[in-house]
Amino acid sequence: MDPKEVWQTALGELEVVFSKANFRTWFKDTFILELSEEEVVVGVPNAFAEDWLKDKYDKEIQEALKKIIPTLKKVSYKVSGQTTPPKPTITPEKQTEAAEITHPQLNTKYRFQNFVVGNSNRLAAATAQAISSKPGTVYNPLFLYGGVGLGKTHLVQAIGNEILSKYPAKKIVYVSCERFTNDFISSISNGRINNFKKAYRDVDVLLVDDIQFLSGKEGTQEEFFHTFNTLHQSNRQIVMTSDRIPQAIPQVAERLTSRFGWGMVADIQPPNLEMREAILRSKCQEKNFSLDDDIINYIAIAVESNIRELEGAIIRIMTYCQFNKVTPSLDVTSKVLEDLIVSKGRSLSVDKIIKATGDFFKVSPDELISAKRNKELVWPRQIVMYLLRHEMNMSFPKIGQVLGKKDHSTVMHGVSKIEKEIGANNELKKELTLIKEKLYIA
Ligand code: ADP
Ligand code: MG
Repeated sequence: MDPKEVWQTALGELEVVFSKANFRTWFKDTFILELSEEEVVVGVPNAFAEDWLKDKYDKEIQEALKKIIPTLKKVSYKVSGQTTPPKPTITPEKQTEAAEITHPQLNTKYRFQNFVVGNSNRLAAATAQAISSKPGTVYNPLFLYGGVGLGKTHLVQAIGNEILSKYPAKKIVYVSCERFTNDFISSISNGRINNFKKAYRDVDVLLVDDIQFLSGKEGTQEEFFHTFNTLHQSNRQIVMTSDRIPQAIPQVAERLTSRFGWGMVADIQPPNLEMREAILRSKCQEKNFSLDDDIINYIAIAVESNIRELEGAIIRIMTYCQFNKVTPSLDVTSKVLEDLIVSKGRSLSVDKIIKATGDFFKVSPDELISAKRNKELVWPRQIVMYLLRHEMNMSFPKIGQVLGKKDHSTVMHGVSKIEKEIGANNELKKELTLIKEKLYIA
């Protein structure tokens, strides 16, 4: 297993556990030095970080790593003599931030070619492509917004990479808003504000990631305002990403938020089930890893919140299979992703399953739990039994009870009927997928 991928996946988990500042302080420049089924040695830049991680964050780090390597027993920390960690041990955004401001540090793995397009991101992808063909002429600025892990950084970096390949002479700067802020502040304190201005105003394309972090930073806003005007007036391309629409970013001057909307504002929404499957397929292909359709479907149903987690799920399964020398199966998948499924199961209820199934087949909940045995009811009822069994792990007698005092053998029969048919009946598979989508997304 690739230590870089394991660590990136773990960092993805840790990033949401800690505050941004803490995460950055303590996990910057960390990487996996050694990796086995039982032990992980984390390389850290100095003794201070070593102590800190060991004393304060060990539990969280172990938890994050155990999700990927269930057999793990021990995590240790070691100051590494390497001055620069092997790349890329930290997430791409962070690497980029550490880069010289005058050099575009684009991560070449973010491309249009590996960006899956669907209804949830079609407009964003199309406008991004359009400006990449003719930067500074069509939509300026382009403002992309959407939730965590939905592809904003991927898309904005793809723009950079694409422009660079079409117009190698163009000067492109990709920067996170935080990096921009820090650069600005340090340029003031060391009297190099002119260098700063040149670095950001003397460019053809400025890509600013997570612009919502301008919130409350008046001085940086003022500076960005002038940067923006200089670039915009001379038709140089500006692209910004944010987790929300311009008007909803608190404590940012109105003259700025209104400018953010001058060109095109495009959103990225969470992907639907079909698109999640497409993304999983594409990620598997990238990693040269093959998963059967039923496994892909299973993951896509289990992991719905964001695309980073979809990728994380694949990496977990890959690692597990590699360490345990097994091939991926539904059993393995459900085991490896257990924590995701369990947390989901909690929000499910008997009523929800009855209602979603009833809605789908256009029969009422009352009819489903009634004693009537006509065909229009028997089939949906069996599906309800199957879902209660498989999604909520209910016992046969309990299912019988909640479905209007049916005998447990009737329930067993119903569940096994669906189980048997699933393999051969594509229509049924589709029905179940749609019902589950309702259960988990609604
Ligand atoms: P954000 O910046 O919105 O938080 P990222 O751009 O970092 O999200 O995306 C998280 C992960 O998901 C990245 O690994 C990225 O490559 C992947 N990803 C996001 N959207 C897509 C997509 N449409 N197709 C393929 N991969 C995607
Ligand atoms: Mg991002």
